[in-house]
Amino acid sequence: MSLKLSTPIQFVKRVGDRVAENLARRGVETVEDLLYHLPFRYEDRLNPKPLDQMKPGEMASLLGDVRGSTLLTTRGPAIFELTLGLVPLGAEGLGFGGRISQPTIKCLWFNGTYLRERFRLGQQVAVYGKLEASRSGGSGRFKLIQPQFEILPGPGASGPDAEFAALEMGRIVPVYESLGGTTPWGAKLTSKWTRRVMWSVFEELIESGAEIEETLPAPLRERLALPNRLEALKSIHFPEAGTPVADLMTARTPGHKRLIFEEFFYLELGLELKRRKLRERIGTRFETTDQVRAAIRQVLPFHPTTAQKRVLAEIVGDMKKDQPMRRLLQGDVGSGKTIVAMQAALVAIENGFQAALMAPTEILATQHYLSARKLLADKLSPLTGKPYRVTLLTGSLDLDRKRESRGRIMRGEAHLAIGTHALIEEKVDFANLGLVIVDEQHRFGVQQRFKLMKKPNAEGVMADPDVLVMTATPIPRTLALTIYGDMDVSVIDELPPGRTPIVTRRTSEASSAKVWEFVRKQVALGHQAYIVYPIIEGANDDQPELDFAPEPSAQDEPTPTKGKRGKKTESLFPKAKLRSATQSFDELRAGPLQGLRVGLLHGRMSADDKEVAMRRFQRGETDVLIATTVIEVGVDVPNASVMVIDHAERFGLAQMHQLRGRVGRGAAKSYCILMTGDKVSESAELRLDAMVHTQNGFELAELDLAQRGPGEFFGTRQAGMPEFRVADLGRDREVLEIAKSEAARFAQSPDPTLTPEQITEVWDRLKQQWQRRYALVEA
Ligand code: ADP
Ligand code: MG
Repeated sequence: MSLKLSTPIQFVKRVGDRVAENLARRGVETVEDLLYHLPFRYEDRLNPKPLDQMKPGEMASLLGDVRGSTLLTTRGPAIFELTLGLVPLGAEGLGFGGRISQPTIKCLWFNGTYLRERFRLGQQVAVYGKLEASRSGGSGRFKLIQPQFEILPGPGASGPDAEFAALEMGRIVPVYESLGGTTPWGAKLTSKWTRRVMWSVFEELIESGAEIEETLPAPLRERLALPNRLEALKSIHFPEAGTPVADLMTARTPGHKRLIFEEFFYLELGLELKRRKLRERIGTRFETTDQVRAAIRQVLPFHPTTAQKRVLAEIVGDMKKDQPMRRLLQGDVGSGKTIVAMQAALVAIENGFQAALMAPTEILATQHYLSARKLLADKLSPLTGKPYRVTLLTGSLDLDRKRESRGRIMRGEAHLAIGTHALIEEKVDFANLGLVIVDEQHRFGVQQRFKLMKKPNAEGVMADPDVLVMTATPIPRTLALTIYGDMDVSVIDELPPGRTPIVTRRTSEASSAKVWEFVRKQVALGHQAYIVYPIIEGANDDQPELDFAPEPSAQDEPTPTKGKRGKKTESLFPKAKLRSATQSFDELRAGPLQGLRVGLLHGRMSADDKEVAMRRFQRGETDVLIATTVIEVGVDVPNASVMVIDHAERFGLAQMHQLRGRVGRGAAKSYCILMTGDKVSESAELRLDAMVHTQNGFELAELDLAQRGPGEFFGTRQAGMPEFRVADLGRDREVLEIAKSEAARFAQSPDPTLTPEQITEVWDRLKQQWQRRYALVEA
């Protein structure tokens, strides 16, 4: 039986049932799965870089022959010391200039007694490790501590070592993450093992001339100069001499690009199809008459910025079309998205439709409700000649109020409904819903978004509502092109006038006295301050703050997909003794902030208490608000000029950026103080640095994406991220852009260079993959 991609892994040479079981645990069940277990790094054993050109701390891949070894047992743990003679191998001393300044190198292993029997004089050994400066004199500048090593087969050897000699030296050698488990003989499934199995598979596939299912039509590949699938995989596992190692490491070789392109191409093609389908659906054609314009003008509290005007024009442009709008409005915190949303709502209302505004937390929904009422108070609708009516619907309202609100929505008496998840619960029927606005969309799951869009209108005959989603988490373009790939995007890239940049400073808990002194000074100047903690209560209760209002429907969201390849993410809330909101509320009030009016706000308070606390702060009745991340999104109190984040090392970048966005909303100079506990991890250092150095949300978002990986980017609640085998959204933006335009081109019109069969194959493949891999969107 000849090997195929679909062949179960146990039929591969050297694998067998037992190993197959181990592999299955790592998700490797077929030959195809195995081939997609790509090397995570490479060793250039063909042209190792000359040591002369290297510095301590760099990773070096060296080849040498064993010149001697000793076991040093004088004091402490036994140290095994191996001396290698460095010989340029393979390429006639390339790069060595005929001179080796360091002819030997010492390799040290602690507790290395077990290594005594491993090495024999004259053996060829490949080592890989970090170069350390050598102080012991010796023959050169460097030594290697605990390097990884591989004994290479010598001349005249026989058996598998000889058979595979060519894999181990004189070439660029792939290094694999261990697939876990052992062989029936108890040997580990090392990188070397993987290499050999991989090599045998390729040999068999190529020898038998097996048809490897091609997934991209040949003319497309040719135009883009992409290799076929088998060539691509082979070149990634066993790169040809001369392939730049840097390209291999960064997945920039044609082989890598080909696999990445394929994944992106089918994703983008699916999204393209969705966009097309949407365009066939019927929306409402809103009109912008003079009357509508007058209605908007009479409520505007200030002159919109140029950016606000531009995005409103884009939104209204969509609303005037026959197709339903699907637009994402991005704008950094404080850029003034709310008023744009209100203007859009007025367009719908003045056309005789209802508008709905949905927010992720009760606090934010309530705030929107109050400010909408204020904005529309005493204004008459030119359409009806009567006042505008706004209603609030959130989960924690008492039953009577909920029922009343639902009734008004159903009877069409409410022009604008503002609420939380409660708005999309089945029981709410809109009389005449024309526009849905979702604020801080990233806080809702993707699923929620679609559920909302599919909400049928009361008569069942009406068109789909227009949908505008807004987010202050700047979305790196790669994510905008994938998760939001089915939407049009508008960006507010300008802040309202009169803002001064926020001064961001880092300090540690040791200087907290100075921080509180500063807060007192700001309050004395008539300003207000926030102090934010990572947890609600301290000591024996270190539950993280649920930064969502405890809405019933907020808790049963689908579990999020894991970050790609389990990219290591540091838990933001490991068990530890942290200062908490409630504890600090008591302590600060009684101590450093004595005499100030201090409020408390966290997610476990009742909705009423929360509202009271928020309102008092808004009205300036409290000077300092001690809170958790409940205030992270949306809260707007322009008089607040100080944001203190305690245990800042515990917060994610997006969170800190959002929190900082709570200040700097008025004309007064504002401050963000990042106070850290005693342990600050390396990645936290990076985050804090970034916060101090930039206020640009997009820059922070890119760093956030790089640190946490796309799966975690939106916080743990974002479900529906596509999983890629090779592609990486943080890395492969360039290929994504190409894939996107190629997908659009493919969907647009049949490419004359493609045969009808080739075209059908692509669509068939899309259908197969869409559900399985990118289940985020229904086909
Ligand atoms: P976000 O985009 O973060 O939701 P908001 O809509 O809450 O921002 O606006 C932030 C603050 O800026 C609010 O106090 C709002 O009233 C004010 N604002 C918005 N647009 C303007 C403008 N064009 N001129 C002056 N102030 C504005
Ligand atoms: Mg907002």
